[in-house]
Amino acid sequence: MDLHSGACFWPLVNGLGLVVPPLDRDLACDVAVIGAGITGALLADAMTRAGLSVAALDRRDVGEGSTAASTALLMYDIDTPLHRLRERIGRADAERAYAIGVESTRGLSRLCAELGVECAEPGSIYFVRDDERVDDLRAEFAARREAGLEVEWADRARLESEWGVRAAGGIVSASAAEADPFHLCHALLRRAIGAGAAVHDRTTVTEIEVLDGGVALHTDRGPRVRARWVAHATGFEAAASLPRGVVDLVSTYALATEPTAPAPGRWADRRMLWEMADPYLYLRWRGDRLIAGGADVPFRNERLRDRLIGAKAASILKDLGALLPGVALETAFAWTGTFGATRDGLGYIGAPQGRERELFALGFGGNGITFSHAASAMLTDHVLGRANADARLFRFGR
Ligand SMILES: Cc1cc2nc3c(=O)[nH]c(=O)nc-3n(C[C@H](O)[C@H](O)[C@H](O)COP(=O)(O)OP(=O)(O)OC[C@H]3O[C@@H](n4cnc5c(N)ncnc54)[C@H](O)[C@@H]3O)c2cc1C
Repeated sequence: MDLHSGACFWPLVNGLGLVVPPLDRDLACDVAVIGAGITGALLADAMTRAGLSVAALDRRDVGEGSTAASTALLMYDIDTPLHRLRERIGRADAERAYAIGVESTRGLSRLCAELGVECAEPGSIYFVRDDERVDDLRAEFAARREAGLEVEWADRARLESEWGVRAAGGIVSASAAEADPFHLCHALLRRAIGAGAAVHDRTTVTEIEVLDGGVALHTDRGPRVRARWVAHATGFEAAASLPRGVVDLVSTYALATEPTAPAPGRWADRRMLWEMADPYLYLRWRGDRLIAGGADVPFRNERLRDRLIGAKAASILKDLGALLPGVALETAFAWTGTFGATRDGLGYIGAPQGRERELFALGFGGNGITFSHAASAMLTDHVLGRANADARLFRFGR
């Protein structure tokens, strides 16, 4: 699958970043990770730090899958609002899923700080544009308060006066971060390599052979990797090999503006904004640029997806103009990516039944990177035989 097209912002900012060679010899390790995007990088880093030997392989250049296209809002919010997730999976599990998001957001910020990767924690506003949606947002606010999340309510007047945002209501959250996902991916892989991990890109895993007590990964380069476990960190491309109904693919669009500045006195904290709607509009700042996205449509094929970049960027910019009337906006870079959504908004993490040596870390959904962070802890525990009470929430067949 061609995961993205157009002018993705992060590879432009970072250049080539980490360069690793293709696989040129057989390897043996505890865990073979397929995919060296942000998920594979988080797994490789967490597992090497836990004392496991790791080899990560990627068919592209490292980080050049969806990670390169990500707008990297690191949020605890799940695509399914908490008050609806409670109805779906029960209050305790729904609240725990949101709490995992808070912990992962903090964990990712910590990793960025350790690795010298740019990251900010501006907080977020989850908003509705229209008055008819305010009651629904208030129900969400009540559910978040009941869950003990650190939230405040902002009405139309407060949104306008504090942030210059023209919307009907918003939930203001303290916990939210934003990072450079491409740099973070490379920095994690670099640290894992320093701790002994093997990382090879431009190497496709063509077959997984199940052995007694492990697996052998066959590659298009010839050499093989024997491992006790294989971890699939293959992102949205994994959708093709999963049973129907597990994940729906959509095409999503994003842009970065020319440097701009909000009116003096407004946006002092440069909060991230995320809309309660489907499809939703979202935005974050990166320096003086706004990075925004949305305008999702069901995925049909890459050609149709790519043809819409110009029109979708124009539509996102128009929506931004209505939301932030005080900010001068001009698109500098626009891109598109394929993206996977699940029915309950949660990713899939763990081993499907009957495939005990195969682990999956599929952070589907709008906050996939926070799920990937959670997956790195859950799968490390799984391999080390440690119990992890959270694994149940993300299991296959739920
Ligand atoms: C436009 C856009 C905006 C987004 N915004 C956000 C956001 O704001 N916040 C957020 O949390 N998430 C966001 N996401 C989602 C987020 O980007 C993804 O969840 C995340 O990048 C997935 O990382 P990954 O490492 O799992 O996948 P990828 O980065 O796609 O990495 C998977 C890798 O697996 C490799 N691979 C696949 N099959 C094989 C094989 N057989 N052999 C070898 N290698 C293989 C691929 O080459 C690829 O590099 C966004 C996504 C898009 C497209």
